[in-house]
Amino acid sequence: MAFVTRFAPSPTGPLHLGHAYSAILAHDMARAAGGRFLLRMEDTDLDRCLPVHEAGIVDDLTWLGLTWDGPIHRQSTRLAAYNARLEPLVQRGLLYPCSCTRSDIRAALAAPQEGVPHTVYPGTCRGRPMASRQPSDALRLDLAAALDLIPEGLEFLETGPAFAGVHRIVRASALESIGDVVLSRKGEDIVAYFLASAIDDADQAISHVIRGEDLFAFTPIQVILLNLLELPVPIYHHHLLIRDDAGRRLAKRDDARSLSRYRAEGWTPDDIRRRVFTPPA
Ligand code: GLU
Repeated sequence: MAFVTRFAPSPTGPLHLGHAYSAILAHDMARAAGGRFLLRMEDTDLDRCLPVHEAGIVDDLTWLGLTWDGPIHRQSTRLAAYNARLEPLVQRGLLYPCSCTRSDIRAALAAPQEGVPHTVYPGTCRGRPMASRQPSDALRLDLAAALDLIPEGLEFLETGPAFAGVHRIVRASALESIGDVVLSRKGEDIVAYFLASAIDDADQAISHVIRGEDLFAFTPIQVILLNLLELPVPIYHHHLLIRDDAGRRLAKRDDARSLSRYRAEGWTPDDIRRRVFTPPA
C-alpha cells in the first residue's frame, strides 16, 4: 500500500509549535516511507479562515523545510462535492432536519439526565421527515438507524502512542458517546468538519491520518461515516500533544507561542525540531 498522508490545518490563525510537530511528523513519516505528503486547508469556516493565515502557514512550513506533493487542496472549493455525498444518506432515510438550538438541547437534557457530563443530542427532532426541512434547519444523522446498516464489529487500526491497537465500534457506546451528530449546518451548504475531513481523506487516497490526539474522539464517527459512504478507512496515528513548560496544551490562539514568534526570536528550523521532538524533562 502506498503511504499517503497529509497536514490539514484550519487557516484561522498562526501556526504554533503543536502544528509544527504535526506537520514535521507527517512529512518525515511520508518521506521515510517513500510516500506522499499532502497539504490540505480545512477552510470551510468562511468567516474565520483568512487568506492571510493560509499565507502564513505556507510561509512557516516552507521555512521549516517541508515540501508537499501536488497543489494545496482547499475544502472551500469542494462544498458541492461534500453535499453530494449526503444524498445517498438522505435516500436511505438516515438524516433528519433539526431546529433545536443549543439551549433547547441543554433544556431537554437537564431534567432527566442531570449531572451527565456530555451533550449527546437527546433526539428531539428524530423522526421528522426530510420534506419538513426549513432553510434554518440543520441535518442530523440518525445514528441508531445508521448502525443498523454497518457490519457488526467494524474496526479501525490506530498506531499512535496513546491509543495503539485495533478499535472496534461498539453500538451501545457509540449511541452513548456520539449520538445523532449534526452533519450539515442550518441553512448553509456547509457540512461538519469531521465529515468533510473524512471525505477528503478518502478522495485524496490518504493511507495514514497523522494528527493530534485531541482529534482521536472524532475517529469512530468518521469510521462510521466512511463505512456508510462505502469509502475506504485509513490507518490512524494520533500523536501526543506538545505542551508548554507548565504542561498546558499549546492553543492556536496563543499568539505568544506562534511559530513566527520563535522565528523572530532567532530560532532555526533545527531548534524547532529539537524542541518538538524532545520530551519535556
Ligand atoms: N483541521 C483540523 C485542525 O486544524 C485537523 C483535522 C485533521 O487532521 O483531521 O485541527
